[in-house]
Amino acid sequence: MPYCMTMPRIGFGYDSHRFAAGRPLVLGGVRIEHEQGLAGHSDADAVLHALTDALLGALGAGDIGERFPDTDPRWTGADSATFVRQAVELARRKGWRVENADVTVLAERPKLSAHKLAMRERIAALLGVGAEAVSVKAKTNERMGFVGREEGIAALAVVCLAEEGRRS
Ligand code: MG
Repeated sequence: MPYCMTMPRIGFGYDSHRFAAGRPLVLGGVRIEHEQGLAGHSDADAVLHALTDALLGALGAGDIGERFPDTDPRWTGADSATFVRQAVELARRKGWRVENADVTVLAERPKLSAHKLAMRERIAALLGVGAEAVSVKAKTNERMGFVGREEGIAALAVVCLAEEGRRS
């Protein structure tokens, strides 16, 4: 057995938002040019919402809907980076830091390959880690389901938290 090793904690998050005309498209904290954005109370950034839920999940600290309810006017039009930052701060207070994060975005359109690096760097900055600790992958849904019909975008995220102060 390794000496004094605390087991890491894993969290998983999922989110989806419906497309809506007249809204900006923001994914992974990056504004992306597209003919429509996503509907939502906040900026509807499904990637950062999935990531926030992954962080909260790893902490056993509820979910984004409990912590940032869409009935709260404070979150109207909110930059979803706020949710990620608060979840990271909660982790820090509980003695955890982010080890790495892995994100998959499901979108039929727009093509996201040109934006993956910017999302990766933005997410890394929000998590307080280097870009090498963050992965952003983009896929279509092969024209199947709500993503395939371009009704919306979905995102999945996994994070690993390590005990603060220890480097694996
Ligand atoms: Mg959401």
